[in-house]
Amino acid sequence: MTDIFSDVEPMVFKSRINVPYAWWTGETAERFFLALRDDKKIMGTRCPVCEKVFVPPRKVCPLCFHEKMAWVEVSSEGVLESFTIVKRQLAALTRKAPVIFGLIKLDGADTSILHYIENPGHEDIKIGTRVAAKFNEERSGSMQDIACFRPIS
Ligand SMILES: [Zn+2]
Repeated sequence: MTDIFSDVEPMVFKSRINVPYAWWTGETAERFFLALRDDKKIMGTRCPVCEKVFVPPRKVCPLCFHEKMAWVEVSSEGVLESFTIVKRQLAALTRKAPVIFGLIKLDGADTSILHYIENPGHEDIKIGTRVAAKFNEERSGSMQDIACFRPIS
């Protein structure tokens, strides 16, 4: 059997693709995004069986599969549970590097959300830092209605 590629030099072609997409959010995400946009409130759902509060909200409890979740408002403040500093300007970044991404566990929630952390100097950021949501003046119904979370302690 002849290898048709035996005389071909292996090459790598580097490029980027742009994949615009849209999808229907569904009623659970829609209610979450409308609360951000219209009321600057962060909503979650609480499972009445295991009592866990999920933010972003879940229609069905991912732990016990209970289907009748209750809506609850959680605080716009919480604790930074983890973070990373992105120094390279990656294609997926919507902001100029360096940026800090953090996992924030809001007061009243049992899960964490991922968002930008505001800190121009970033030397005083540490796990356990208290942070608060900074909402944009103009909001459109997305996670970007929260500009970032800023340290408050
Ligand atoms: Zn549950």
